[in-house]
Amino acid sequence: MSYKTKSIETLHEELKSGQIKANELIQEAISEAKKYQKDYNFFVTIDENATYEGPIDNMLAGIPCAIKDNLSTKGMLSTASSNTLKDYIPIFDATAVEKLKEAGAVNIGKTVMDELGMGSTGTTAHTGIVYNPWDRKRMCGGSSSGSAAAVAAGIVPYALGSDTGDSIRKPAAYCGIVGYKPTYGLVSRFGLFAFASSLDHVGVLTRNVKDAAIVIDNIKGQDEKDMTSINLDQSLYQALDKKVAGKKLCYIKEICNIDEYENPSKELKESLTLFQKTLDKAKALGIKVEEVSIDKTLLSAIFPSYLCISCAEATSNDSNLTGILFGPRGTGKSVNQIMKDHRTKGFSPLIKRRFVIGSYVLQQENQEKYFKNAQRIRRLIVNKVNSLFEKYDGLILPCSAGPAPLLNQDNEEQISTNDILENHMAIGNFGGFPSITIPNGFVNDLPIGINITGKVLDDANVLNIAYAIESTMNYKNQIAKENTK
Ligand code: GLN
Repeated sequence: MSYKTKSIETLHEELKSGQIKANELIQEAISEAKKYQKDYNFFVTIDENATYEGPIDNMLAGIPCAIKDNLSTKGMLSTASSNTLKDYIPIFDATAVEKLKEAGAVNIGKTVMDELGMGSTGTTAHTGIVYNPWDRKRMCGGSSSGSAAAVAAGIVPYALGSDTGDSIRKPAAYCGIVGYKPTYGLVSRFGLFAFASSLDHVGVLTRNVKDAAIVIDNIKGQDEKDMTSINLDQSLYQALDKKVAGKKLCYIKEICNIDEYENPSKELKESLTLFQKTLDKAKALGIKVEEVSIDKTLLSAIFPSYLCISCAEATSNDSNLTGILFGPRGTGKSVNQIMKDHRTKGFSPLIKRRFVIGSYVLQQENQEKYFKNAQRIRRLIVNKVNSLFEKYDGLILPCSAGPAPLLNQDNEEQISTNDILENHMAIGNFGGFPSITIPNGFVNDLPIGINITGKVLDDANVLNIAYAIESTMNYKNQIAKENTK
């Protein structure tokens, strides 16, 4: 059996018993990465020299992984898939990367993403489109596109990602894998290239829930280099016991009920039917599942508020991308001209559009109407969801209106502004809530996902519910069919 469908736990057991050797496993992963790179374009950089000489004393020791290209890796190119950073080599590791190294994890490469973390398609990277391993004609979602594709293709058992609106959880759904964004601050953001600091999370993409718990256990914890980071003195891995009888979940009628949609597509109908089937499986485990209602006006405001807040924060955070401190130096007679040249040539159209939105909503005369109103809406949504969490252990929802869309001409900004179903996962970022996507079956032979979100610092409970629901289905450790051939 190839290493490709094995969990972290199994690989660890095999490494410990000497059944497999770390460096052979790492070499195999590197050669698979190289072999499939031309088909899927997962990586910005593949580290062909990665090796491991340490002891197998930790679950991650000697096991290959991949890291999204917006996490700083000391001495290794970190571009955030942007032309403005195409030659940037950090002199330090992100805290999450440092902790992985301490655990003996072996990074074999940096993964392609939507430029600077903005986007949801995997089509805006300076090194080109990432293709979905289930079907090369389709996108894999974004912005953690290469991480999702590499895990789905079986190249690595896990990859780090980042999530500002749904950037771990949406590509996980489109690629038939698990994507987990822990509570805000549980993993330090130090060394993560900031997109929107109040919404940014570091998390992980894996092929089963247990592996997600193992990885986050190893990288979580308060960090003096990130003042928003927090501790959770509990092993997420050890909390997985599948004892979920009596737990309560709710789903939002306005998102999940087919009658809410005018002319629903066949894919949407099938996705919502699969969603209901999984609710039945959850009920069979003794979980109580109830329908709740949230004002549609409020739900429709999630996306515009997200866009306002994230673009405003991004415009400010990315103002250091001038070509002076990092990236290729622009040309011009004055400092302003040099910076303008660098930014004009460096950013893709999507980034420029977002900076225009960000600058507009931050202008003094617009702040009250746009930026501050977006913050108010964020607060209303978080309050509403927190009130649900007084009664429920979590919110369970479908991840999308269907499987990964086809790649086409205008797929750069795959965001339909009024589609609540496509954008609700930003709730997890608004509130900093722990949120996990797990595979939920197939529509047209392509994977779709289901998402569970819970209250702040209740990560163990959320993971345990996901773990129990995962065990009622057959998608654990699955890799994309094209790669199993
Ligand atoms: N799709 C969202 C966006 O386009 C999410 C991005 C993210 O989570 N990094 O901004």
